Amino acid sequence: MIGLISATAAGQRGCEQLAAAWPDRTRLYGGPVREAVTQAFTECEQLVCFLATGAVVRLVAPLLEGKAADPGVVCVDEAQRHAVALLGGHGGGANALAEAVSDVLGTAPVITTATDATDAAGLDMLGLPVEGAVAAVSRAMLDGEPVALRADAIWPLPALPPNVGAAGEAELLVTDRVLAERDRTAVLRPPSLVVGVGASRGVRADEVLAIVETALAEGGLSPKSVAALATVDAKADEAGIVAAAERLGVPLETYGAEVLAGIAVPNPSAAPLAAVGTPSVAEAAALAAAPGGELVVQKRKSAMATAAVARRRPRGRLAVVGLGPGARDLVTPRAREELRRASVVVGLDQYVDQIRDLLRPGTRTLESGLGAEEERARTAVAEARAGYAVALIGSGDAGVYAMASPALAEASGDIDVVGVPGVTAALAAAAILGAPLGHDHVSISLSDLHTPWEVIERRVRAAAESDLVVTFYNPRSRGRDWQLPKALSILAGHRTPQTPVGVVHAASRADERSEVTTLAALDVTTVDMVTVVTIGNTATRNVAGRMVTPRGYRWQV
Ligand code: SAH
Repeated sequence: MIGLISATAAGQRGCEQLAAAWPDRTRLYGGPVREAVTQAFTECEQLVCFLATGAVVRLVAPLLEGKAADPGVVCVDEAQRHAVALLGGHGGGANALAEAVSDVLGTAPVITTATDATDAAGLDMLGLPVEGAVAAVSRAMLDGEPVALRADAIWPLPALPPNVGAAGEAELLVTDRVLAERDRTAVLRPPSLVVGVGASRGVRADEVLAIVETALAEGGLSPKSVAALATVDAKADEAGIVAAAERLGVPLETYGAEVLAGIAVPNPSAAPLAAVGTPSVAEAAALAAAPGGELVVQKRKSAMATAAVARRRPRGRLAVVGLGPGARDLVTPRAREELRRASVVVGLDQYVDQIRDLLRPGTRTLESGLGAEEERARTAVAEARAGYAVALIGSGDAGVYAMASPALAEASGDIDVVGVPGVTAALAAAAILGAPLGHDHVSISLSDLHTPWEVIERRVRAAAESDLVVTFYNPRSRGRDWQLPKALSILAGHRTPQTPVGVVHAASRADERSEVTTLAALDVTTVDMVTVVTIGNTATRNVAGRMVTPRGYRWQV
């Protein structure tokens, strides 16, 4: 039962709303609040108090017995903006109640217990089927009890909380093997198995499913770990096989007979060679669909169907994530999601610091200082190759003068790669300056550390001649001070001294500074390495202190 207590008219309305939403689970307590709270505290498993947290703390303090016995208490403020889980977040269910109350009243739940506030991944949130003692192990994970993790291989899972590790009474298995059930063991089923199937024309789906089941059972393997069925191209339309894949909810992958014929198998035979041109369908297709993997169940046969099982090597996941120019609200929701999807985050130490609070507890961070780009890229790829879910982070867009290129140059086809675009410094600066990028534009890095100056100069010249709006990245540092004046002088050969120039330092960060000036008036000493400089084209104007480059359509002329 949920006890509802209020002291004001607004609170009373809130109580009534909850009572209407949960008629069988709620009880209204009227009268003086001290008596109401005291009575509800002994009679109910949970309380919702439309009272200040301070008042409730004082009222319940003398009643407290302990974590196991006390009810969960949620406080809702007078304006109904917040539902605060005050007491019994986990055991008393106050966290969940705060969420439920918020669904009804439109309040924001306020939850302060560690695992929830930091958003540890629940077992059912890991993206894999889970079975066994899920509730017991989830509870152990949330309560911070040591939980042993035993995985047959490294799968690209999100970070698990730090109490999940080498040892513990509760255990979490990541395996495709069927094991005896135990009280405190939960099992995650990775998508590790491929069942190769062959069949005579006209086979029924039931027969295909039966032989698939037999093969898995004889191998002691879980059907929940089956990621795909595989067969020869000639059987791509075989109705019984297609239907079997559908019923298992997995894709059907098919391979050419010549591909399958080239794969060494333990049990080749003459029949499929005559029928479809390969001495093995089931075993060869299973192996073809599991590159680098191994055959774990040899061919099993029924009247019209065959099946064999191969185990795939896990494919790690590399997310290349742009964090934007610095402000927290310019980190895209997708970038946040990828950070929470990862168990390993690789990046420059200052970028890792910037988003540390967004990571799930237990996330491994591999940070390095400026300059270690190649090494960072190699580390990220190596971790993904080992099977982990890795996020390689960078400021702005991680593909713009950043980590994506060295990382992908290093990565081969054996890992999955996803890119998450970020708001670049050039775009963030443009939004501050006005509308400088309204027509064709280019970014040029003035850093000649890895690019010969002749190349940079040639590009600046081309941009000048072709009247492109230019944004200079890496414009000026203590050791590189002549490049920016040189580049500006090249542009000045093709643009008037009055051409608008925008200088933006630390776009979107606390120390942001910006200025719209002109080619003639620009003071290069105001420019440093946390700055971008945008030079207008011959049509760019300063309008009310803002840089505006016309779109140049005929109707605007
Ligand atoms: N990947 C980043 C660029 C990295 S190169 C992006 O997409 O924006 C580093 C250069 O970017 C710096 O020298 C500076 O010129 C620019 N820069 C990065 N963040 C900036 C910011 N917040 N404000 C202004 N310039 C920035």
